[in-house]
Amino acid sequence: MGSYDVLVVGCGPVGAVLAARLGALGMRTLVVERAAEVHPLPRAVAADDEVQHLLSLVAPGLLGGALHDVPVRLVDASRRPLGELRLPAGPSGHSGLALFHQPALEQRLRRHLAAVPTVTVRTGVDLVGWTQDADGVTGRFADGSTARAAWLVGCDGASSFLRRTCGIGWRGRELARWLVVDVAGKVDRPALTYTCDPARPQVDMPLPGGHRWEWLLRDDEPAPDPRPLLARDVDPAAVSVVRAVTYRYGARSAVRWQAGRVLLAGDAAHTMPPFAGQGLGAGLRDAWALGGMLAAGDPSGYWALRAPHVAAMTRLSLLLGGIVETRTAVLARPRDALLRGAFRAPALGPWLSRGGPRSTASGVLR
Ligand SMILES: Cc1cc2nc3c(=O)[nH]c(=O)nc-3n(C[C@H](O)[C@H](O)[C@H](O)COP(=O)(O)OP(=O)(O)OC[C@H]3O[C@@H](n4cnc5c(N)ncnc54)[C@H](O)[C@@H]3O)c2cc1C
Repeated sequence: MGSYDVLVVGCGPVGAVLAARLGALGMRTLVVERAAEVHPLPRAVAADDEVQHLLSLVAPGLLGGALHDVPVRLVDASRRPLGELRLPAGPSGHSGLALFHQPALEQRLRRHLAAVPTVTVRTGVDLVGWTQDADGVTGRFADGSTARAAWLVGCDGASSFLRRTCGIGWRGRELARWLVVDVAGKVDRPALTYTCDPARPQVDMPLPGGHRWEWLLRDDEPAPDPRPLLARDVDPAAVSVVRAVTYRYGARSAVRWQAGRVLLAGDAAHTMPPFAGQGLGAGLRDAWALGGMLAAGDPSGYWALRAPHVAAMTRLSLLLGGIVETRTAVLARPRDALLRGAFRAPALGPWLSRGGPRSTASGVLR
């Protein structure tokens, strides 16, 4: 398949943004993607102000149709308020929270890449092997063809082939199972709501054209019929279920993100539970930072720039998960009292309401 500056494996959102950034900086880039089409079902949904800014620099309109300024609420088992957050707009003027449709974002990124002269995207192509030497990397594909590049970047998702074949460790842990249900149709629930009900912890949020519910499952519990669960908030007959999957969250990081001329980005390098809406954003930040460094010919500062923010957002996601996932009433009562008190406290309350320890200043746009 020829010779390039960078070979990107995986054209999910992270691989696509990396390729767009490299292309804008004049780097000859080949992206290979195993799947023939963009994954059609919604997955990640949240973008903070910095991620929106970053995407607006890739191309205008990538998050068209997203919902902005969605309030975030915590409620107890009886649906009484525990606290409310209004995430403020960032310095770039972008809203504190945008809720979007991942397949639409990926389709737009693919259309954008098709117009970038230095980027070639090949779908239906599976990387099955690679070698590296002092000058570059050779990738080998399932059809027997090869490509040569100065750098090889694995944006190949959480079960990354590149991470495994580099022998890079994957530390961290698997977390709870959640049932994730996306519906299409009108639902009158305008806030992103954490329902801290020990009998069935729930998170739900409006999405463009529909709504998402997530319910915590016990480890040995078969996935329940979502309709009785939906019926607590909406008439199940008034909506259609687009996706109902059990999804086990994880908080993991590759012990290194670089092995010579091979680098990892996005879910291939780290995963976190979705409670802070930072998982995909972390990958898009990787892509932006790494693209600039590869164009400058030296990615040695990549880990130092990205790892601290990823670790901080993973800790925040775990903290939020710990709060909402409480399953015993005995623990839920003091948890609720603490939350109510914290949100009413003079300095602490306003700080929490603006997002508390959630920092969108990762340094990648400097
Ligand atoms: C089933 C599933 C459900 C999810 N649900 C949620 C959710 O509900 N909420 C949430 O916040 N996040 C969710 N996520 C996570 C979110 O979608 C990811 O954080 C985001 O997609 C990461 O983007 P990425 O580009 O790093 O990886 P991915 O989107 O996983 O993209 C990796 C790409 O690499 C390609 N690839 C892999 N190996 C090769 C190879 N050898 N050769 C060529 N191509 C290859 C794959 O086909 C894929 O397109 C989900 C992820 C999955 C897999």
